[in-house]
Amino acid sequence: MTDISGKSTNGQLSLNKAAEPRTDLLSPDPTDRTRAEPIFQGEVDPDKTVVVCGAGGFIGGHLVADLLRQDFSEVRAVDIKPPNQWFQKFPQADNRSLDLREKESCYRALENADHVYNLAADMGGMGFIENNKALCMLSVTINTHLLMAARDMDVERFFYSSSACVYNQELQDTADVEPLAEADAYPALAEDGYGWEKLFSERMCRHFREDFDLTTRVARYHNVYGPFGTYDGGGREKAPAALTRKAVEAKLSGSGDIVIWGDGTQTRSFMYIDDCVDGTQRIMHSGITDPINLGSDELVTINELVDVIEQAAEVDLERAYDRTKPQGVDGRNSDNTKILDELGWAPPTALRDGMEVTAEWIEQQMRTHREAETTSRFAVAH
Ligand code: NAD
Repeated sequence: MTDISGKSTNGQLSLNKAAEPRTDLLSPDPTDRTRAEPIFQGEVDPDKTVVVCGAGGFIGGHLVADLLRQDFSEVRAVDIKPPNQWFQKFPQADNRSLDLREKESCYRALENADHVYNLAADMGGMGFIENNKALCMLSVTINTHLLMAARDMDVERFFYSSSACVYNQELQDTADVEPLAEADAYPALAEDGYGWEKLFSERMCRHFREDFDLTTRVARYHNVYGPFGTYDGGGREKAPAALTRKAVEAKLSGSGDIVIWGDGTQTRSFMYIDDCVDGTQRIMHSGITDPINLGSDELVTINELVDVIEQAAEVDLERAYDRTKPQGVDGRNSDNTKILDELGWAPPTALRDGMEVTAEWIEQQMRTHREAETTSRFAVAH
């Protein structure tokens, strides 16, 4: 396996390329999407069996696509949802529907596996994680059973998707926040429920590495956004998708109104999905043993995010604020010193560029659904 950490073979840091979001990855035909040039450009052994857990979800679907682009002969995609509910499903992958909270399912999922990416979790945006803390904590069974199966079945590399929600909340009580560096997770005061589960699972990865010699890698994702994800008001969508949906609704209905959760002054950074897929694989194949930030450090207020969405969706919005809704911490940003130092790379896509593609995809989806609804109403009426 090539170690692609920035300080690898030739001792040079690979420079951060400015990135334009790739529109060739958006074809409605999934097979077309896998024919494109891979996002991750590291050297890989395509004979390895790679398992993606949570493959029916947003990030998992994009990761499966990129593994198929790299011509891995065996990509196993696993999710609790039946495949017809996955955001992306590829006929070339071995698609399996399994509940990974169950230990036996984890052993079945990891049969002959070389590399395992665990992206499976019961999660959603702020509205979901504030109201479903026990469900979020129960995802601990997924990672625990996967780690046990990985240890017992001699998996070579195991990746765990942690979150910026592990960080001490007291360091995030101002919008003018200092970017969070990896050490800021301790002393621990994580996001209640979801964040504690992530922090505990990070430590499980560390101890399986130290005690059982399982090679584990952990990335702390900071808000990820992009096409082929949740946007539709089921309660699990995150701020960029939820606000884009509301903006497009306002555009299509002609109302121009948008309701923003909180007062709009809270700050965040948002990472485009292609950067997440790239960074995940860079970290997986690196020598970085401790949890590392994977996030953009382009800090914006939610009001500034709405400005970007207005431009991307080409709509002028009349803003109202609902301060009764959960808005999370006041400020959060990613300190990318460590990833730049280790990999010579950090997520390069500008929010404006990524949101343009995302808004276009969400609008296209919403228009298609509206047309389908109109057609079915027309069919019923006649
Ligand atoms: P997602 O909800 O779209 O995908 C998660 C997938 O896991 C879903 O398809 C779900 O059905 C599946 N899953 C849940 N329980 C399962 C079970 N018992 N067995 C098998 N599959 C199960 O979420 P995502 O945005 O793709 O996130 C992927 C990972 O990244 C998660 O672990 C999440 O906590 C982490 N993360 C995401 C973000 C983000 O902004 N999207 C930020 C920080 C961390």
